[in-house]
Amino acid sequence: MKILMTPEVYLKLCIIEGIADKREFSGYGFVEVEERDDDKVFLVYDIELLDIGSLGYTEFNSQAILKVLEREDASHMKLWFHAHPLGNGKPGPHNWSGTDNDTCINEPLGCPDPMKVKWALAMVLTPKGWVGRLDQFKDNKHKVTHLPVGANVDWSFVKHARSLLGEQEEREKATQKIEHQVSEVKYIDMDSTDTFDTAHSAIDEAEEVLRVAKCQIKDGFIDEAIDSINWAFDIAQQYKHSAYVKHKAQKLLEKVTRLKRKLRKVAV
Ligand SMILES: [Zn+2]
Repeated sequence: MKILMTPEVYLKLCIIEGIADKREFSGYGFVEVEERDDDKVFLVYDIELLDIGSLGYTEFNSQAILKVLEREDASHMKLWFHAHPLGNGKPGPHNWSGTDNDTCINEPLGCPDPMKVKWALAMVLTPKGWVGRLDQFKDNKHKVTHLPVGANVDWSFVKHARSLLGEQEEREKATQKIEHQVSEVKYIDMDSTDTFDTAHSAIDEAEEVLRVAKCQIKDGFIDEAIDSINWAFDIAQQYKHSAYVKHKAQKLLEKVTRLKRKLRKVAV
């Protein structure tokens, strides 16, 4: 046996909860009783919000109840709902205050004669979710059954959304790692190396290393590619103002930038 909200009711209550912002709220719900797989389901198909109260109290007056009773489907008004800061979302007596119990047992659905009501449902939003109860009245006796409350929603999308988020977080981690590694650049002392011959051979070698880096990216050797690109980047930085190879160094730098970009794409 359980209480089930239609997606629309669930959505309404979520929005009301947001608006009330930790204040208590209460109202009545309209219920269809269904048998599903040999289980009794109380399907809450509509609600009427009657009060948003203080952080610790909610109540509504008989005028409000009378208005709800004018509805054509008033006979389906079998649920009292409210929100309070008590309980843990697991069905049981610990979710209900003394006042709640008193209301459920002595004045269910605002009626001072419980025997006329015969049965009534209540559900309460605790800090850990909704729980419910069924109060039955017969021959001046009372019986309470604690019930779980759910929403008639296919929740598989939650798992899907969580796994997509996980994948994205992995990608972000990988990108951060590469950016960190690529930015760890060491500068080399310029004076001793800036001669015509050393400059040209250094740039040529760096070009060669970049060609290797391209193959490394293609073959999935990402860490090795990072080392190669860093090495070529160092050379390009070192010679970008050199009188002999300024233009070659700048071209090299452009290639390095392109490869870094490619590397990020591949690595994520
Ligand atoms: Zn309460």
